[in-house]
Amino acid sequence: MAKGRRAIAHQGATIDPDHTVAVNNGAAPKGLERYSTQQIVRELVSRLDEDPTRDGLLKTPERVEKALTFLTRGYHQHPQEILRSALFDVDYDEMVMVKDIEMYSLCEHHMLPFFGKVHIAYIPKGKVVGLSKLPRLVDVFARRLQVQERMTREIANALQEAIKPQGVGVVVEARHLCMMMRGVEKQNSSTVTSSMSGVFLEDKTRAEFLSLVRDHGNSI
Ligand code: ZN
Repeated sequence: MAKGRRAIAHQGATIDPDHTVAVNNGAAPKGLERYSTQQIVRELVSRLDEDPTRDGLLKTPERVEKALTFLTRGYHQHPQEILRSALFDVDYDEMVMVKDIEMYSLCEHHMLPFFGKVHIAYIPKGKVVGLSKLPRLVDVFARRLQVQERMTREIANALQEAIKPQGVGVVVEARHLCMMMRGVEKQNSSTVTSSMSGVFLEDKTRAEFLSLVRDHGNSI
């Protein structure tokens, strides 16, 4: 990537182009906040030894800003508001499950996508939530900088808090571009995480849930 080995002095920090590690006693370079996102993206493009003024890249800072705003809009959404807007009293105490919910997120370590499917189940205790709210709940937490483990737990906790069911089970199966395109470059591995609460901690319910998850047929 870097054509020549050079250290770039910037705001008192030295950035090693091969390792992109800022050497500044661990502190972030000061003063960056006065630059707009688009200026920072333009600077980034030029540090990749590209010419930010060539045709194809001219509008890239604007597009990157728009894309990042969209991909992180979950920070401005409120899971409890979304769930509580569609709670219904229902006399039903069997498992409710929505599976194969598409999920796209950005890993917080590399800001590269990870994507896959989320399966959500709960056993009600007097209340159910409108089914369309579950994919929206997934998006609230997926559209942030995330790690898969935390996202899984956050989805489960939000559902538990909103409808106080007998228990919740969430399974996330995902593929991480930071593993596929770089690092270990493993193309076919997927990562599975789960979060269970209440009756889903009991063997029978957990087994029923996991067998319904496995039954889905479409792999990610
Ligand atoms: Zn990553």
